[in-house]
Amino acid sequence: MKIGNSAKPSELATLLIHADRELNPTAAVVPPIYQTANFFSTSPEDFLERSSRPRHPEFYTRNRNPNAAQVEAVLAQLEGAPAAMLTASGMAAVSVAVLGLIDHGMHVIAQTNHYGGTMSLLRNLLPRFGVQLSQVDQRSPDDFEKAIRPNTKLIVLESPSNPPLHLTDLRAVAAIAKAHGALTVVDNTFATPLNQRPVQMGIDVVVHSVTKYLGGHSDLIAGAVLSTDALIEKIWNTQLILGAALGPFDAWLILRGLRTLSLRMSTHNANALALAQFLANHAAVKYVNYPGLESHPQYELACRQMTGFGGVLSFEVDGGYESAKRVLRRLHLVGIATSVGGVESLAVLCGDNFTHHLNVEEAQRAGIPAGLIRVSVGLEDIGDLVADFDQALSV
Ligand SMILES: *Cc1c(COP(=O)(O)O)cnc(C)c1O
Repeated sequence: MKIGNSAKPSELATLLIHADRELNPTAAVVPPIYQTANFFSTSPEDFLERSSRPRHPEFYTRNRNPNAAQVEAVLAQLEGAPAAMLTASGMAAVSVAVLGLIDHGMHVIAQTNHYGGTMSLLRNLLPRFGVQLSQVDQRSPDDFEKAIRPNTKLIVLESPSNPPLHLTDLRAVAAIAKAHGALTVVDNTFATPLNQRPVQMGIDVVVHSVTKYLGGHSDLIAGAVLSTDALIEKIWNTQLILGAALGPFDAWLILRGLRTLSLRMSTHNANALALAQFLANHAAVKYVNYPGLESHPQYELACRQMTGFGGVLSFEVDGGYESAKRVLRRLHLVGIATSVGGVESLAVLCGDNFTHHLNVEEAQRAGIPAGLIRVSVGLEDIGDLVADFDQALSV
C-alpha cells in the first residue's frame, strides 16, 4: 500500500499494521523470524546476483535480512521517504549517515546541542578524518546561513533536541542547505514520524534511535536511516564496511512495537502535555521545557512543523541540583533510568547524564543546568503520574 505525503495520523495508523504485508511470503499473520546468518543460492549465477545487488535481503544478514526489510518498508512509508535502512543502534544510524556522507576537507555545520553520542561523533571523531565543524544555535536559522562556507556539504540537526527541547526550523534550514548545495540530516527520534515528517519539509536524511518510541518497550537497541534510494545505497555501503547491521530478532521485535505506535504516541502526547501543564502551574517549579506549552518560546514553530509534541519534557525546581535530587528520590511510580520512549515513565538528572561532553558554561548556554530534570512520560494513568509528581514536589 502507498500513502501520500500529506498522510493523516489515522492513515499512518493503518500503514503501521499493513505496510509490510507484501514482504511476508508465508500464511503466518505475524511474519516468522529469519534467524539465519546466510541464505542458499540456487546456482552460481543466482549467487552472483544476490552478492552483487546492493541490499539484497536474502544473501548475508550483515547486508540485510527479510525481517529488516519488513521494518524498513513500514518506516519508509511512515516518514514518506523512498528508502529506509535499519542499524544496530541509534548511534550506528547517526554514525553511518554522517560517515557515509563526509569526505576529507569538508565542512559540517551542526547544532550547539545534540544527543551526547552525536556530540562525541562530531567533536571527537570527525576531526580525525580532516572534517571541519561549526556548531550554531539551532533556534536561529540565520546562524546556519552565516556559518556556510564554500566547502559546507552537510548540516546535522536534531529537533526537538535532548534534553532542553529546543526546536530547529526544519523548512528554513533545509532551504538554506539546498541553496548552498549541502545535504541535511535530522535526528527525528524525539518527535517520531507520527508527530513530525522532516522529508516532507525538504530534509534529505532522517535518522532515528529506534530504541526509543519506534521500538517503544525498552527491550531492544536499534536505529534507522531514511532517505532517497541513492543516498541510502551510499550510506549502506559505509554500514556494510562498519558492520552495524541489526539482528533478525530485534528487527522482529521492532515490527511488533510499530503495530501500536499510533496509539502509543497519542497517549505519550496527551500525558506529556497534561504533566507539563501541571508542572508549569506548580509553585515549586521554575519553568518547564515542552514544545506543546504556549509558554515555550518556539510554540508557534512547534505548531507549524509538528502535529503532536512528543512524550519528553524537562523542568527545573527551585533550589537547583540538590532539590532536583530530592525530587527524584521521592518519586515512587516514576523510576530513575536513562533512555526515553518506553511505556514506563522515567526521570533523570541532566547534570548527571548529558553534560560530560560540555563544560559548565557550555551546558548553561545549551539550556542544560545540572538540576534540570528530564522526564520520559509513559503510558500510565495521567492521574497517577500527576499524583506522583505532586507528592514528590511537596516538601
Ligand atoms: C538515544 C538517542 C540516540 C542514540 O540511540 P541509541 O539507540 O541509544 O544508540 C540518538 N539520538 C537521540 C535523540 C537519542 O535520544
